[in-house]
Order: sequence, then C-alpha cells, then structure tokens
Amino acid sequence: MRKAGVVLVIVFLMAAGCRESSDVHRRTQYLMGTVVTITVAGLAEEDASRAMSAAFEEIRRLEGVLTFFSEESDLGRINAAAGAREVLVSAETIEVLAEALRISDRSGGAFDATIGPLVSLWGFEVKDRFVPPKEEIERARTLVNWRNMSVDPNLRTVRLERKGMKVDLGGIAKGYAADRAAETLRKHGVSSAMVAVAGDIRAVGEKAPGVAWHVGIQHPREPGAVLGSLRIADRSVSTSGDYERYFIKDGIRYHHILNPATGRPAAASRSATVLAPTTILSDALSTAAFVLGPEKGIGLVQSFPGVEAVIVDREGRVHVTPGLAGKVEGLAS
Ligand code: AMP
Ligand code: MG
Repeated sequence: MRKAGVVLVIVFLMAAGCRESSDVHRRTQYLMGTVVTITVAGLAEEDASRAMSAAFEEIRRLEGVLTFFSEESDLGRINAAAGAREVLVSAETIEVLAEALRISDRSGGAFDATIGPLVSLWGFEVKDRFVPPKEEIERARTLVNWRNMSVDPNLRTVRLERKGMKVDLGGIAKGYAADRAAETLRKHGVSSAMVAVAGDIRAVGEKAPGVAWHVGIQHPREPGAVLGSLRIADRSVSTSGDYERYFIKDGIRYHHILNPATGRPAAASRSATVLAPTTILSDALSTAAFVLGPEKGIGLVQSFPGVEAVIVDREGRVHVTPGLAGKVEGLAS
C-alpha cells in the first residue's frame, strides 16, 4: 500500500539440517509498496514459475483495487465520496472492509479502518517529518471512527458518513493479498508454498512431508536479528512493529501504528506477532494487538479460535499466549 524499507520478518528458507533442494523456487517482486516473496516447493521449475506469475498478478490486481494512492481505486472513490454518497465497489473490497469492521469492533476500536486522516497528517512517507500540532491531531482524530462507515454486502456499497473521513487498509490489505495469492497458487496445483508480503506471511502446506515452514520473528531493536522463530504449516503469521516507518525527534520514536484514542503513535509495544488460520486475520490482529499492548492484546487474540501471539512490550519484555509457550524457538527467556 505504501513504501516500506525493511522486510519485517525474516523467512528461513532452509529446513533444519538439510540443504535447500532443487525443487524449491523463489521469486521476489516489489508490490503494494513493499517486498513480496513467493517460494514454491515440490514442483518442476516451469510449473512453479507459472503459478508464481499468476500469484504475483493477483497481488498486482488487488493493489489496483485497494490502494489509498489512486483516485480511481475502490478506496480512492470511497474516500473522495466521504460525507456525500455511497460508492459501489468490488466484492474484494467488501470482503476486506467487512473484516476490517469486525476487527475494529472486536478490538474496541484499537484497530480502526478509518485511521486515514491521522495517517495522512503524520505523513510517515514524507521526508523532514515533524510532530503535527496538537490541534491538528485533535481535528484528525475526530474524523477517525469506524462506526461512521457503513458497508452493505448485498448492494456492494460503502459509505463514509463525514466529509474528510478516509479509509486506510495499510493494516489489513497485505494480509488479504497473501491469502488471495496462496489461493491462486493452490489453483495452479501448488500444495507447498510460502507467500510473504513484507511481514504478512502465509504458509501453504508444509515445506516437505513432515517438515514445517520456518519463520523468524524480527527482533524489534536489532536490525537483521531474530527474536525467535516459529514452525508453521497451513497457517499465517504477521508482525507489526515500531521499527518500520518511524522517525526519532527529541529522543522519542514516532512510528506508523497509531492509537486512534490519542491520535499518536501507539506506545504500549515494540512489536506484535500473531499466528492465525488466515493472513487477513493475522494482519489485522497484529496491528490491533500492537496498539492494545501485552495484556489486552493477548486477551484479544485468545478470544479468536486458533490464534496465538508474541508481543514485545515497551520495555522489551516478551509475552506469549499460553498455546505458544515453549514453541517459539530460540527465544531468550
Ligand atoms: P501493520 O504493519 O499491519 O501493523 O499496519 C500498519 C499500517 O496500518 C500503518 O502504516 C497505517 O497505514 C495503518 N494503521 C496505523 N494505525 C492503525 C490502526 N490503529 N488501525 C488500523 N490501521 C492502522
Ligand atoms: Mg497488520
């Protein structure tokens, strides 16, 4: 959706103890403002290549529909019509927005799909960034409220009630794209793959029979180092962190994950990693859990079946859901 400098999660592409075999194929493209890597195992090169091309094409198509940076995209049209009228959109946009609203509700508004006015105000994409004046933060904050967005799945329409409101799907669209790319791979006969849209990762099947995919969690304060790693098969993992898209002013770190309640960067966590059955869910919940911090964040993810989390709090302490206890490899206790 927007430019990202660093890939959040390091993907271990070597199965423990054995060399990567010749039937593992990998390709990277720059899409949705970030680095997308697809790995396919267990297929001949030609078949793997065809499947990967189709999956990248699907992500490119979704980017065109969901981008914040075009007036013609569904999102651009929804935002331009804020306070005026409802807009007819694609089924994909309805699917993402409905899930965004569900997580906005379940997280008590910690995740808020209408965060756009605050994201634009803070402008983490712009050079020479500065802390916006209090009054402007307050003004933008009053426009952020997911309850003022209506989504009608039957009519396929979306409406923002107030002029100036803006939907921003930066916290959920990459996960959705990873799910759709995984589906595309499966349709092309792939049963073993990994799709990584920056820090939003979907594992299709296992890497090899009896060998899970191995995913590293980026250490939030040591670039290039891992905090620990997870083994996953047919699951998704997403990480949200304060070490991506940030600036430091007077010793304070200002980063891109905003607390809708204060209008400022959320201060309770350094990173939040969520494992879930789908990437749209792991993506939205990692953003929500980051904002909520360790206690409430762990509580939120535990209210979803099959969802686990690793949260690094503001002091650097690591919190894991009971279901993950002892399962994060290499985690310093
Ligand atoms: P992620 O890396 O998935 O946590 O997504 C972060 C991105 O989501 C930001 O760059 C914004 O585009 C958007 N965002 C920031 N704060 C929030 C929030 N509280 N709720 C939903 N989206 C947010
Ligand atoms: Mg997210």
